[in-house]
Amino acid sequence: MVNDKIIIAIDGYSSCGKSTIAKALARYAGYTYVDTGAMYRAIALYTLRHSLQNDEDVINALPLLEIGFTHVDGAQHVTLNGEDVEPYIRTLEVGNAASRISQIKEVRAFLVAQQQQMGVAKGIVMDGRDIGTVVFPHAELKLFLTARPEVRAQRRFDELVAKGEKPVYAEVLADVNDRDYRDTHRAESPLRQAEDAIVVDNSDLTPDQQMQVIIGLFEEKTNGKQ
Ligand code: C5P
Repeated sequence: MVNDKIIIAIDGYSSCGKSTIAKALARYAGYTYVDTGAMYRAIALYTLRHSLQNDEDVINALPLLEIGFTHVDGAQHVTLNGEDVEPYIRTLEVGNAASRISQIKEVRAFLVAQQQQMGVAKGIVMDGRDIGTVVFPHAELKLFLTARPEVRAQRRFDELVAKGEKPVYAEVLADVNDRDYRDTHRAESPLRQAEDAIVVDNSDLTPDQQMQVIIGLFEEKTNGKQ
């Protein structure tokens, strides 16, 4: 049987709703969803728990780390050495640590190899920063999501409030801008739009409108064959 499944790469800035749309698209297509940010966050959590201060210590720890995924009530949770660490990785502290350790070449190579392995059978929606450029440069459908920094900061602020945290909007906005700067200026695989990626600016789109746009792109790419 011919496998018509494709690889869908979704890249973009932090807090622009990549994972929400990637999950929804995976559900629609019957594909596997992989949140690569969660993998960087799991390593970041390890470095915080073990107070690893410099790059060398992080690199030396890599062979001790097993990053995986499990499903809990239909939701994907990332695991670190078998422990479900999803409840601990969505904080600003871990996000910032993830942004720092993701600059280390060896950390990227470690995770990129695992991510490429996950795509061997296609039928995958993967989101991150370097999916269309480095992990799957030959992905059949590449989306680059973006939204104005103020819009992204407000969404992040609302998420943190919903989790019971007490964020300060100005700090969240500063954090969004800092992270954008680090993600786009790092030496290793900086966030950039692949030449063949389709840009979707969702600042003024409702989630439903955005989903319609993206389903349209998917159907066009697969000629409605899936
Ligand atoms: O997407 P998320 O905010 O969960 O990612 C956390 C951090 O991990 C990002 O700020 C980014 O620095 C890093 N990351 C990356 N490459 C990816 C996914 C995430 O560098 N493919």
